[in-house]
Amino acid sequence: MAGEFTRRGFLRTAAATAALGPVSASATQGAAATARKPDGPVVIASANGLRATARAAELIAQGVTPVDAVVAGVAIVEADPDDHSVGYGGLPNERGVVELDASVMDGPTHNSGAVAALQRVKHPAQVALRVMRRTDHALLVGAGALEFAKAHGFKEEELLTDEAREMWLKWKERHSDRDDWLPPLEPPDNGAAEIKSGGMLYTHGTINCDAVDLHGNLGGVTTTSGLSYKIPGRVGDSPIIGAGLYVDNAVGAAGSTGRGEAVIKNCGAFATVELMRQGKPPVEACLQVLKRIVAHLTDPRLKDSSGRPNFDVKMYALAKDGTFGAAAIWSGGQFAVHSAGRNRLEDTAYLYERPPKEQ
Ligand code: ASP
Repeated sequence: MAGEFTRRGFLRTAAATAALGPVSASATQGAAATARKPDGPVVIASANGLRATARAAELIAQGVTPVDAVVAGVAIVEADPDDHSVGYGGLPNERGVVELDASVMDGPTHNSGAVAALQRVKHPAQVALRVMRRTDHALLVGAGALEFAKAHGFKEEELLTDEAREMWLKWKERHSDRDDWLPPLEPPDNGAAEIKSGGMLYTHGTINCDAVDLHGNLGGVTTTSGLSYKIPGRVGDSPIIGAGLYVDNAVGAAGSTGRGEAVIKNCGAFATVELMRQGKPPVEACLQVLKRIVAHLTDPRLKDSSGRPNFDVKMYALAKDGTFGAAAIWSGGQFAVHSAGRNRLEDTAYLYERPPKEQ
């Protein structure tokens, strides 16, 4: 039919476009593009990803592609009931339902896949990988994402562990004194992972993991249960390409954890990769993006008494040559690294010294 957009028609158009000549080199390359290749696999991740970096590096050494390796690495954390920020055991939304977000991106093909608000499937990153490889789409959400996962044989299961349910119940009973949910009479404990934001208590966490192999090929993944006790359907930065994850095989990979809304509004991962393209070292690129997030912050509810953000964001960056870095708005953070055959945690750079904890 005339004017009908078909996949075959699209491929023909793409072939014709390709025949017109390559995209200008400056649009796809940067200073890092011509740099030396890493001596061995380099993998970085958020601090909860120490087992992921070790596993991904091991797989890359065996010839597994970086994107497959990082997805296999983060699967360890997705399956861990003790990590309340990711997959099984993740903290639920305000109704007590676990909703997961994840994205993957493959450097050599510049292809990506993602799922958002996915319920009842423990490994959203693996579903995102299927979206990348087995659909013509970039992002599936909610019921459609679950249907797709089931079509690919992923098992449906309850993801809310008893421990996560207890944490949610505690939040539900304490976040307002104007509803009918009452905490027990004994004094409430202080949730160590909780941050005060505009009077609301929330917890945060995610795993981002990025890798480069000996040939300078990159891959990345970000997977999370998102902001705890969120409004059902809320999607954070993790499944948004350019926000929670971005990979450009000519330059590097970047990802984020922390307050996703701030990262989305500043295209965090994309901006980090673009700064590396301009020649900024990874840690410098991360710091500049964080400064931009702070500079764009106008909502007084998101500022402390000194006008600084009352939340944290961490950016992670890995260049094609294997150099890497990570930075946070607030001090005290770490990130996981596997390089030169060593797996370890390193301190993140930061913008502000965290004030001593309130009693
Ligand atoms: N970035 C995640 C989100 O906003 C959560 C986090 O890392 O704390 O969904």
